[in-house]
Amino acid sequence: MRDDSWLSWRLNQIWQLYFNDIARKNKIVIKFGREALYRFGSIRLNYSDKSTLIRINGRFKNPKYPQEILDHTIAHELVHYAQGFSSPNPRMHRYPHRGGVIDKELAQRGLKDLVFFYKKWVKDYLDTL
Ligand SMILES: [Zn+2]
Repeated sequence: MRDDSWLSWRLNQIWQLYFNDIARKNKIVIKFGREALYRFGSIRLNYSDKSTLIRINGRFKNPKYPQEILDHTIAHELVHYAQGFSSPNPRMHRYPHRGGVIDKELAQRGLKDLVFFYKKWVKDYLDTL
């Protein structure tokens, strides 16, 4: 079942497999948020306790959404963390998405197939809305 502890488990797996060069410098919490149509995930730094909060679209609890889509969303947010957005790591770019920096880093980390899967899926998904 996909709940918040499943998300933490999955985040740890993705971290070990693809991000283990990235220092985990603060507490990272991952949770399902509200159900949204267009926003799949978000990451922010809690300034009071310096923890990072990753939220995943609550729709994705439903098993009809492929696991690759959850993995892609988690990996996308972890690239932000690695690149210093909403994390204690040094900021590597001025803007979080400009210039395709996320997809480039996902590809460098061996996640190219996940990006392809996502791009194809999201087209079909948007057609169903
Ligand atoms: Zn993003």
